[in-house]
Amino acid sequence: MTAAKTGKPIQSITIVGGGTAGWMTAAALSRLLSGIPGLSIKLIESEAIGTVGVGEATIPQINSFNTLLGINEHEFVRETHATYKLGIEFVDWTRLGHSYVHPFGSFGLDMYGIEFHHYWHRGLAAGDSSGLNDYSISGMAGKLDKFMHPQHNNPKSALSKLGYAFQFDAGLYAKYLRRMAETAGVERIEGKIVHVAQHSDTGFVTHVKLDDETEIGGELFIDCTGFRSLLLGEVLGVGFEDWSKWLPCDRAVAIPCSLGGKNEALTRSTARPAGWQWRIPLQHRLGNGHVYSSAHMSQDEATDLLVANLDGAPLADPNHLRFTAGYRHKAWDKNVVALGLSAGFLEPLESTTIHMVQTGIARLMTFFPTTDFSAPEIAHFNKQNVQDYVDIRDFLLLHYTATERDDSEFWNYCRNLEPPSGLADKLEMFRSSGRIIREHNELFTEASWLAVMTGQGIKPGGWNTANSVIDDAETLKRLAHIRHVVSSTVQQMPSQAEFLAANGSAI
Ligand code: FAD
Repeated sequence: MTAAKTGKPIQSITIVGGGTAGWMTAAALSRLLSGIPGLSIKLIESEAIGTVGVGEATIPQINSFNTLLGINEHEFVRETHATYKLGIEFVDWTRLGHSYVHPFGSFGLDMYGIEFHHYWHRGLAAGDSSGLNDYSISGMAGKLDKFMHPQHNNPKSALSKLGYAFQFDAGLYAKYLRRMAETAGVERIEGKIVHVAQHSDTGFVTHVKLDDETEIGGELFIDCTGFRSLLLGEVLGVGFEDWSKWLPCDRAVAIPCSLGGKNEALTRSTARPAGWQWRIPLQHRLGNGHVYSSAHMSQDEATDLLVANLDGAPLADPNHLRFTAGYRHKAWDKNVVALGLSAGFLEPLESTTIHMVQTGIARLMTFFPTTDFSAPEIAHFNKQNVQDYVDIRDFLLLHYTATERDDSEFWNYCRNLEPPSGLADKLEMFRSSGRIIREHNELFTEASWLAVMTGQGIKPGGWNTANSVIDDAETLKRLAHIRHVVSSTVQQMPSQAEFLAANGSAI
């Protein structure tokens, strides 16, 4: 029998910071906790400080967040000037002149209980020469800028394997969520926090003081102050695990530009001599940025390289950002939970940061505290949070270490990195048997690992011979059939522009 809990329900939550993380949290908590009588949720932000101003590409899990919030997808797309994203195209990562797609969703069709790629690998050994993207509805449609919704309840349709996310204007997204949160009763307070007060015995945060002397208290504080990590890092002194050794990129320069170049329903990442460039198509403009290692390239060089590789005319001055890859040792300490950049940051190569905010909110709901702030719950929250960072780091590292590039000091450094144990195990398993290990419900699926391992040129050591229910000839026939189903389905899909117009979500 466990001891009865002594804490009382939380009655006041103060969210500090109104960037993407702050407003996502405000919108979610005001909806999910609406049943707690008398609960007050406040959000403090400072227009003078502003937000990081980037963060436009998402992954399919955002659909669950939108559903949880009761968001109407077409309205959301229109209001945030969003486009549909079906995956990420990696250009020049494996070697110069090479490209591949990491599509959302999964490959092929259902195959007699064994993962599809074992049949594909067997087919290749039997003389087939198809590419992995030939089996991806999202990958093929993404390249052609086509879109329609998945049909998950029809396993015979290629559309059952389609996965999608969005690319949106981060500023409009925060505004959209702000409207939702304020309508649901969140009180927004404009002001700059100049002091954070703590309880003299417990060290719990009791209130924050603004530059106009206003004091705002709270039982639970959510730190969404961005890289500054004002409450968790600065005031509570929670340390930072520096992963620059693994992920040496520590700068970015972002410049939006007018639309231009080839339309694709994909975020594009092009490897550069000391990092990589993103290209994110929205309805009204392209988002662009260059993530680079300052040890290998100067700010001016990085900016010039970005400007020289824009598909349209620049629409703003360069926005220079500094960061360090890594995470806070505890995202939750005492009565402060950090969400967003204040909790940690791994470069946006696989668009995971907004997802980490979403995961943090979901986890906070799982371990939602009472006023006693029970230690085991907090410890679990922190443990799971760290595991997420480790999983994402390993997946990002796969792109950097499995490269043939040897044309710059940066790529030589990355290519020679010793993979951490989790990644090393995955690589060994794939290289020896073609199997993909996915543990503890980690974010990236077998299909994602397959796409990037294959794209980065890693060869499988074989395939699961339990796929012997059909012989080689039947395998080749089945593969050809799937390719036909995928390509004919893509042909019939509307273009993204047609889909947006037909659903009232074009701007
Ligand atoms: P911020 O946007 O920095 O917000 C901080 C808030 O805190 C602001 O409202 C500020 O006013 C407030 N604040 C700070 N100090 C005080 C104070 N003293 N008083 C009052 N208020 C204060 N994520 C993705 O998922 N996909 C991407 O494609 C992507 N691309 C990125 C590219 C780069 C180069 C970077 C750096 C990040 C990217 N991200 C991406 C991450 C994404 O931008 C962030 O996760 C997201 O914007 C959340 O930021 P935030 O709200 O934590 O911080």
